Amino acid sequence: MADFLQLVDDTTPKPMRTVDDLCQRIRLYFPQADLTLIRKAYEFSEKAHSGQIRRSGEPYISHPLSVAGILADLRLDLDTIATGLLHDTVEDTQTTLEDIRREFGEVIAHLVDGVTKISQMKFRNRQEKQGENIRKMIVAMGRDVRVVLVKLADRLHNMRTLNHMPYEKQANIALETLEIYTPLAGRIGINSLKIELEDLCFRYYRPDMYYVLSQKLKKSEAEQSRYIADVKDLIISTAQKNGLKVEVQGRSKHLWSIYRKMQARNLDYEQVYDVLAFRGVVGTVGEGYEVLGHIHALWKPIPGRFKDFIAMAKTNNYQSLHTTVIGPGGERIEIQIRTQEMHLIAERGIAAHWRYKERGKIQDDTAQQAHWLRELVQWHQTVRNSEEFMDAVRTDLFEAEIYVFTPGGDVREFPDGATPIDFAYAVHTDLGSKCVSAESMARWCR
Ligand code: MN
Repeated sequence: MADFLQLVDDTTPKPMRTVDDLCQRIRLYFPQADLTLIRKAYEFSEKAHSGQIRRSGEPYISHPLSVAGILADLRLDLDTIATGLLHDTVEDTQTTLEDIRREFGEVIAHLVDGVTKISQMKFRNRQEKQGENIRKMIVAMGRDVRVVLVKLADRLHNMRTLNHMPYEKQANIALETLEIYTPLAGRIGINSLKIELEDLCFRYYRPDMYYVLSQKLKKSEAEQSRYIADVKDLIISTAQKNGLKVEVQGRSKHLWSIYRKMQARNLDYEQVYDVLAFRGVVGTVGEGYEVLGHIHALWKPIPGRFKDFIAMAKTNNYQSLHTTVIGPGGERIEIQIRTQEMHLIAERGIAAHWRYKERGKIQDDTAQQAHWLRELVQWHQTVRNSEEFMDAVRTDLFEAEIYVFTPGGDVREFPDGATPIDFAYAVHTDLGSKCVSAESMARWCR
């Protein structure tokens, strides 16, 4: 088992070696940053972890340094990156939270405390226990969404280095990640992180299938890249003929999403047709709809597959036009169209909105993007029973969404399976209690 995994182990990004690497990466998006804090946090953490060795044989500091690097790749603020460097000091060394507070102040102490609390939770399979744990996790992160970002970066680096863990533990850690962390990454809209986590989980959770699929994908690679180039050219030239400019990227979907499709529809790899996905980035929203129109004139769209997430953004602020068409050679291809700004939000989620004040401090209203987290935190206080809460969280994290218009034209979002009664309660408690009947389901759409 271990042997063949080596063959496909070519996805791990280059590790960060030194604090200078980290500083360089921060300077890419924040040239004027005063990096005294980052160097101080690094030195503090290196000292605290000195003598500790990771399973890979590297000094322990390589882990917090890599976590900080992931956070820098998400272009986060300096407090968050410093927290990345310090995140294991309270849990794994003699350092106390008081030490952190004294050296780095209240905000970083608060962030480190939140991450430590989540790290100390044991996720068990027993439903009730798990419900209680997730509840605690949500409380820990609810006050500041940056806690979750650090925890996700921590988990991503642990997944990237999971090959050093004993084989028996790998599948469990992968499953836990798949159940708890990847939905969370999706929910706060950090797609790049979600996709990498999912494929890493797949690799360790179902190594047999991962191997088979990645080999098949590799085999068809040459053929695919020709096809991708053709489609790309056709989209660009069609747009050009109509005086429009579009940047197009084409790729094979990630392995986990292909695998899930195979499972859901009981298909073999050869039977999964829409493996290729294209993304067009345009200048304005209007141009996006225009390009979409020209694409639909060029290739027949598949009914029911067009989704307008520009007019109706997802709760995590994701916006895009989605369609599936019958492309050249009768192949089903998925196409997403969005503006540059929407693209940024799709890849980096809430982090894309953060504007930095002087010295790399983010503005006070940044956590406002995490509507979902805040609502959940407020709401958990009204739900006593942890099993009930767990069910609700599961629903919220995993189920598909339904969009409904209010009479005033606002859009409300519900988990799959919601009914008009839920809608009534969402508008107003009184309305829910007085609701007698629902007239038509016609406007309920997925
Ligand atoms: Mn860690």
